[in-house]
Amino acid sequence: MAIERTFSIIKPDATRRNITGKIITKFEEAGLRVVAQRRIKMTTEQAESFYGVHRERPFFNDLVAFMTSGPVVVQVLEGENAVARNREVMGATNPADAADGTIRKEFAESIEANSVHGSDAPETAAEEIAFFFKDEEVVG
Ligand code: ATP
Ligand code: MG
Repeated sequence: MAIERTFSIIKPDATRRNITGKIITKFEEAGLRVVAQRRIKMTTEQAESFYGVHRERPFFNDLVAFMTSGPVVVQVLEGENAVARNREVMGATNPADAADGTIRKEFAESIEANSVHGSDAPETAAEEIAFFFKDEEVVG
């Protein structure tokens, strides 16, 4: 199995509740390693561009408002099969559907305030990593 990298965000609902460490522990226990990390406040322009694929969805404006409502932690996670592994440990988008032991089951507040983002494919992972990090900021 190849070593992959994926992009992850710890969302404002989680930074607000001071549970970033608990969430990072979940990633580490799942065999993922943090190889880049920064705490930022996303601008509206960044959030609109980052979630551009959802521009036509009814929840788009709310999502952008939520993602800019407080600090987030942007990070790159590395490990075997990292894209899928990360999605597994995150759990389903809606915490009501998320499996036991997943981050969203344990920590998410709602389908919108669901604590974490993770890339959905290797191609989007590469794009999302490049959106937030320079090559030299990712240290494996
Ligand atoms: P993410 O892209 O954040 O990792 P995801 O891939 O599980 O999550 P998407 O369908 O890409 O889910 O939706 C992106 C984000 O938009 C969700 O994580 C959530 O914050 C928000 N969202 C998705 N569906 C809804 C909805 N029906 N109502 C409100 N917010 C939603
Ligand atoms: Mg998504």
